Amino acid sequence: MSYTSAIPERDPRFTDYHPSLTRQAALAEANRCLYCFDAPCMQACPTHIDVPAFIKKIASENRLGSARTILDANILGASCSRACPVDVLCEGACVMHRYNREPIQIGMLQRYAMEGLHESKLPLPFASAPDTGKKVALVGAGPASLACAAELRRQGIAATIFDARPLPGGLNTYGIAEYKLPFGVALHEVELIAALGVKIESNVDVDAGKLAELESEFDAVFLGMGLGEIHRLGIPGEDKGGVTDALDLIAGYKDGSLNSVKGRIVVVGAGNTAIDAAIAAVRLGAERVTMLYRRGPEQMSAFQFEYEHATLEGVHFGWFVQPIEITGRAAVDGIKLVRMEAVDDGSLVPIAHSEFILEADSVVLAIGQATHTKFLNGKVQLERGRVIIDRKTGQTSNPKYFAGGDCTNGGREVVDAVADGKRAGIAMAAWLEAQHADA
Ligand code: SF4
Repeated sequence: MSYTSAIPERDPRFTDYHPSLTRQAALAEANRCLYCFDAPCMQACPTHIDVPAFIKKIASENRLGSARTILDANILGASCSRACPVDVLCEGACVMHRYNREPIQIGMLQRYAMEGLHESKLPLPFASAPDTGKKVALVGAGPASLACAAELRRQGIAATIFDARPLPGGLNTYGIAEYKLPFGVALHEVELIAALGVKIESNVDVDAGKLAELESEFDAVFLGMGLGEIHRLGIPGEDKGGVTDALDLIAGYKDGSLNSVKGRIVVVGAGNTAIDAAIAAVRLGAERVTMLYRRGPEQMSAFQFEYEHATLEGVHFGWFVQPIEITGRAAVDGIKLVRMEAVDDGSLVPIAHSEFILEADSVVLAIGQATHTKFLNGKVQLERGRVIIDRKTGQTSNPKYFAGGDCTNGGREVVDAVADGKRAGIAMAAWLEAQHADA
């Protein structure tokens, strides 16, 4: 199945934030690497990509070999090269920091290697193992399920992914800013994985009934459905026209269905998704974009570089304010806020008589996503709505069910989901083999 036909023409407002490295720049950067023994960059990567080995292959002009080294550890090497917060992972651990030198641009070099493979139009450099007769159903087509499915195919196990969206890829396709991870890159990567023999059934909503069907039809089930809807504020006026959420806004412009926004936009929240939505609103033509957060800049969950990027893009910030009402008749015309202050124990309290209204034409909610596990109906143990797993294997309290990614950790990085999926795929293959041996 080809997904690339679904890719809309790239909107020039959302072209890459950083251009790709040229051949000369990649060679020069690769030659700066010290190829450390016990490389800390490799330890800092959740998928433990052999960073010195792939960089050395770039230095010796073996770009496809470099991509193979990356893919051996991380089948979503292209997405991760663009979506990973490298400053706090591999590049943050690079020994160059100790010598007061710039860290090696590991993310950009990884992207250079992966672009070489994608431009070559070659398939993934792995084949599926001979068929074992075992089959696994995977719920959700995001990074955790894709990584798990690829691992299962490499071990000769049939893998079928079920996803509610029209296109696979999960947040890689729909939820990460286009100038970081383009729609086309995410879908091309899915196509390469599907070519290993992974079946993907789109537009399938897995509810309790469907899950029971999958459980009886398949030898095991992997839960990689990510998280659910964005939390609501729980304040009056949230049902008014003009209240939307950050993921809908990002998905809208990425799939081409949203081309512009108008007026004054208020984004509530201060995480990386809130930043992606705020910058998107600026680039889509908003008159003014303001992010609101009940604490200060030091406490925001967005990475520092994301915050700096948003500031450069012209996003405004309102700190220590809490929404208490969305105002307007049928449609939003403002958001009522109260100023907050921190007290001795670190908690926040509203400041008396400090309420004010900030005029707005649209309110975008970005205060984290709820879990989406009710449909599991007690099949596996949960904690605060998250699926509990054995972190070494991904197995849940129900041996036939494995899980990974955001539905188990509440929302971390793409690379964490890939690491979970890969680990679970290996463990599932071993578990299925053991079941077979016992039978
Ligand atoms: S820590 Fe830095 S210098 Fe050492 S291998 Fe990794 S990227 Fe190269």
